[in-house]
Amino acid sequence: MTELEYDYDIGIIGGGPAGATTAAYLRQAGISVAVFESAQFPREHVGESLVPATTPVLLETGVMPKVDAAGFPKKYGAAWTSAESRNISHNGFQNLTHDFRAAEVLFGERDQPGVDRDYTFHVDRGIFDKILLDHARSLGAEVFEQTRVLGVDFDAPNSTVLHTRNSEGTRDVRTRMVVDASGRQTMLGTKLKYKVSDPVFNQYAVHAWFKGLDRKALAVQEGQTEYIFIHFLPLSDTWVWQIPITDEITSIGVVTQKSRFQDWKDDREGFFWDCVASRPDLLDALKKSERVKPFKTEGDYSYAMTQVAGDSFVLIGDAARFVDPIFSSGVSVALNSARLASADIIEAFKAGDYSHERFSRFESTLRRAVSSWYEFITIYYRLNVLFTAFVQDPRYRLDVLKMLQGDVYDDEEPAALVAMREIVKAVENDPDHLWHRYLSDLSSPSAAASF
Ligand SMILES: Cc1cc2nc3c(=O)[nH]c(=O)nc-3n(C[C@H](O)[C@H](O)[C@H](O)COP(=O)(O)OP(=O)(O)OC[C@H]3O[C@@H](n4cnc5c(N)ncnc54)[C@H](O)[C@@H]3O)c2cc1C
Repeated sequence: MTELEYDYDIGIIGGGPAGATTAAYLRQAGISVAVFESAQFPREHVGESLVPATTPVLLETGVMPKVDAAGFPKKYGAAWTSAESRNISHNGFQNLTHDFRAAEVLFGERDQPGVDRDYTFHVDRGIFDKILLDHARSLGAEVFEQTRVLGVDFDAPNSTVLHTRNSEGTRDVRTRMVVDASGRQTMLGTKLKYKVSDPVFNQYAVHAWFKGLDRKALAVQEGQTEYIFIHFLPLSDTWVWQIPITDEITSIGVVTQKSRFQDWKDDREGFFWDCVASRPDLLDALKKSERVKPFKTEGDYSYAMTQVAGDSFVLIGDAARFVDPIFSSGVSVALNSARLASADIIEAFKAGDYSHERFSRFESTLRRAVSSWYEFITIYYRLNVLFTAFVQDPRYRLDVLKMLQGDVYDDEEPAALVAMREIVKAVENDPDHLWHRYLSDLSSPSAAASF
């Protein structure tokens, strides 16, 4: 049998954080890589607040000095506020200790393996994603921007043909395997019919950038203005993110259930202001600032795949799964799924065998990690007060922080998750429980998709 001729060893669909990071890891191992990206970078993207689990990956791929040099705002912690917390004023700042629906954490409270600092970043994704993609290019990855992958043929063992198109025409590219990092476009998962909508979540977001927002007016304690803030709204399953982008610019987004937005018949601006008006302090501060970007919406983003690997392919980042932005986990999952997949791909390359079993470590680790995220998110929505109670409880605080850091890839199921699961069950089964009235309409975790 004649040996097939390959244009590159590995073909990557999408040059976002997942695709660019995979390209960097594979180039470090001397493997030839082509990245096909339909956009021209820099391109805008939602998902601006990182968690510390990104740090080990940024360090390993060698891109961290470039990220450091970009001067992104440093994110030392996260805070959750509620309408109640804003009424408890102390020296001009809000004192959270008496509000059970409010909480705050500092990442530096817990050491995290592979993390060399007590902060992570908030990023302008146009700039951040370009840094990562340019870094992959600097390591020798061939990056084709404005080039879309239209389809993939699995024509022989250890062989894939990517059908690509750009302004110059179409080109078929043969590689040994393909990595789908196409984000929420879920190129391969959709074509292979692996994609399933989430049975519990159908979330929707409306967001924009605001200039001159007084973050101090919204901070709960001194020194927290650069935190990410999650402001609970007194509307079920609805909250607002507040993310610093530069000294002057703040990203604000409302996240809700899609059904709630549908009542507004596509009036994204009207919907945004109506939600924000339920927190007068937030409305006040926002009205004094200037919106500097049009409102954007994000929807239909809660889904899973029945399979994330197979003969000659893996799905990573949002191309594998996305649920909800509540814990800012997206970019860290993109980077860590790239890390895990790359380790298996490098072994497969050495063995000259790209069959499904070669990616089982990636698959099982990602499944476990993403399941933890999923359950954490589900419990958060199901019984909001439980999350803030756990953050404030010294028995569970560090364990919850471990999840908030994105440190979910080791073997153990977080102890806090086990305890939370049991408490939710008890509250559900006891109509007289103090927290029973706080249960949301979202189905219980037991109804959640397994992957
Ligand atoms: C409302 C909302 C808020 C969020 N907030 C946060 C947050 O605060 N923090 C966080 O970490 N995450 C957040 N996320 C998640 C985050 O945006 C994603 O998880 C992250 O961008 C995933 O990276 P990725 O590389 O997998 O995909 P992407 O960043 O989407 O990159 C995929 C790339 O593939 C390209 N592409 C797609 N199809 C093709 C094709 N056929 N051919 C060639 N190229 C293609 C696209 O142009 C794109 O550049 C949020 C998500 C939502 C919906």
